[in-house]
Amino acid sequence: MNIYADNAATTKMSPAAIDAMLPYFDKIYGNPSSLHSPGQRAAEALEQARETIAQTLGCGAKELYFTSGGSEADNQALLSAAAIGERKGKKHIISSSIEHHAVLHTLERLKKRGFEITLLDAHENGIVRPEELAEALRPDTVLVSVMYANNEIGTLQPISELGKLCRERGVLFHTDAVQAVGHVKINVAEENIDLLSLSAHKFHGPKGVGALYARKGIVLTNLIDGGAQERGKRAGTENLPAIVGMAAALREAAGQLEEATAKLLPLRDRLISGLLEIPHTVLNGDAKLRLPGNVNVCFEGIEGESLLLLLDQKGIAASSGSACTSGSLDPSHVLLAIGRPHEIAHGSLRLSLSEENTPEEIAYMISSIREVVAYLRGMSTVWRDLQEGKRSYVIQ
Ligand SMILES: *Cc1c(COP(=O)(O)O)cnc(C)c1O
Repeated sequence: MNIYADNAATTKMSPAAIDAMLPYFDKIYGNPSSLHSPGQRAAEALEQARETIAQTLGCGAKELYFTSGGSEADNQALLSAAAIGERKGKKHIISSSIEHHAVLHTLERLKKRGFEITLLDAHENGIVRPEELAEALRPDTVLVSVMYANNEIGTLQPISELGKLCRERGVLFHTDAVQAVGHVKINVAEENIDLLSLSAHKFHGPKGVGALYARKGIVLTNLIDGGAQERGKRAGTENLPAIVGMAAALREAAGQLEEATAKLLPLRDRLISGLLEIPHTVLNGDAKLRLPGNVNVCFEGIEGESLLLLLDQKGIAASSGSACTSGSLDPSHVLLAIGRPHEIAHGSLRLSLSEENTPEEIAYMISSIREVVAYLRGMSTVWRDLQEGKRSYVIQ
């Protein structure tokens, strides 16, 4: 069996999105900035794509700026808010300890520029508390940035409540919604979101394209200077095939949202309960307030890396922590932030499902993982010490 269970890292493209892109390589290939007819046909397609995405998010088309993906959108959102703060003499930013590195590393850069950063605790369930945001807000706070859904443990944050608090205090509110767009219902106006990042390849669209929503009146700072594309805020000839593919993928995902969720939830919950039957295993992140396709567990006494390699041999593509942190030996900052000790955080496994996964695949994954965990524990000196009582279990 070949099973793809790493949809939080990236997704397979939807056939409808591929079809939508094809004409833009060799038929409608004009530059949207050109005044001739081929250019104008391209410009129309560009604005049509913007309109489609705006409708699914509940914003105006003019509030969307196309980018090269989620990382660029996160960088531009934070650096723009920081520039606004500098102009007003406000140099305090609030975020959370479980953000993606596209946010955390940008905050590091801003710290060197003199900003003070407060990171909200995500607690054991992986969710920040609005009352703690209320306490952290200060007169010099310019921005709050809290992700919509976490890429590792899938937890969904109380975005509407956070947005409402920020709006009441006149503080900008950004959310990295890269894991959420196309997977849960979002309306930027109803949820008081000022800035939102999204990326096509996380919802069955093409890689290397995304968008930043910035509420009307928010002045963006350019990361790339040059031509007047994207109303002067993001230079460079638009990647029209990818933008059209992104719009088609989002329209499809939004149209199938309820159906997909109804299909995914029982698969996710079956997988979680099957894995929790393995002794000394714990679920990471809230059991209910999580993305419909996200499963993340820690097994005591094993190494996540060896687990992944053995699962790969059984045809299962999964992840330990996030793709960006695997490859380094540091355990995931998200798992550490929710209080998992180092030795446990190393034994983590993330399975992120799509609508294409089947009940048969779930059953195969449960039995394969059970087998591989038992095999690795059989070779582990840590596991032997635990069993002989020379060490105590972290996971009961
Ligand atoms: C994938 C991801 C990003 C980065 O998006 P890219 O399009 O790959 O640059 C940022 N934030 C989150 C939460 C993500 O999952």
